[in-house]
Amino acid sequence: MVSEAHIQIAPSVLAADFSNLGQQGREATEAGADLIHVDVMDGRFVPNISLGEVVVDAIRRSTHLPLNIHLMIAEPDQLLPSFIKASTDQIIVHAEACTHLHRTLAHIADVGAIAGVALNPHTPADVISHVRDLLGIVLVMTVSPGFGGQAYIHAMEPKIAEVAALLDGYDCDIEVDGGINADNVKTVTEAG
Ligand code: ZN
Repeated sequence: MVSEAHIQIAPSVLAADFSNLGQQGREATEAGADLIHVDVMDGRFVPNISLGEVVVDAIRRSTHLPLNIHLMIAEPDQLLPSFIKASTDQIIVHAEACTHLHRTLAHIADVGAIAGVALNPHTPADVISHVRDLLGIVLVMTVSPGFGGQAYIHAMEPKIAEVAALLDGYDCDIEVDGGINADNVKTVTEAG
C-alpha cells in the first residue's frame, strides 16, 4: 500500500493541442501536474510516430515541471544523445527495445538523468532484477504501447505488486501508463 502523498500525476503530452503546446504546458503546470509525460513513438517499436527531440525541446521551454520522457523507440541508444540534449530530467527506455539494457540505463544515469525502464504487458517483472541499482523509475505499461485511448488491462495489477516487491529497499518510483482514470486509480495505487 502507498499513501496518497506519494502519488504523482503526469499528464501525457499526446493529449495536448499541438498547435498550442506552450499554452498547454502552462495550463498543465497551473492545474497541479507533477510531471509532463512525453510519449516518443518511432513508427518501428510502436506503429505510430509522435514527436522527436525538437518538440521535446519546445515542451521543455513551456514548463518548469520535470519531463518524464517515455521512449517507445527501437534501438534507443542511437537517439539517446539527442534526447539527452533536449532534457535530462527523466528518460525511460523499453526493456524490449534494449539489447544491452544495463549499458543503456547506465548511460542515462551517467548524464545525471533519472533512468527508467518500461515493461510491455507481456514482459515479466523480474527483467528489472539485475538493473535495479540503476533505476529511478519502473514504468508498467497497462496497455500495449502505441495508441491513445486503449482499455486498461486489469491483469497488470499483480505485476505492479511484483515490481513493488522487487523494488523493496530501492529508491525507485513505479509509474503506470495507459487507460488510467478515476475508476481504476484506486486499485492501481493499492497494487503498489
Ligand atoms: Zn507513455
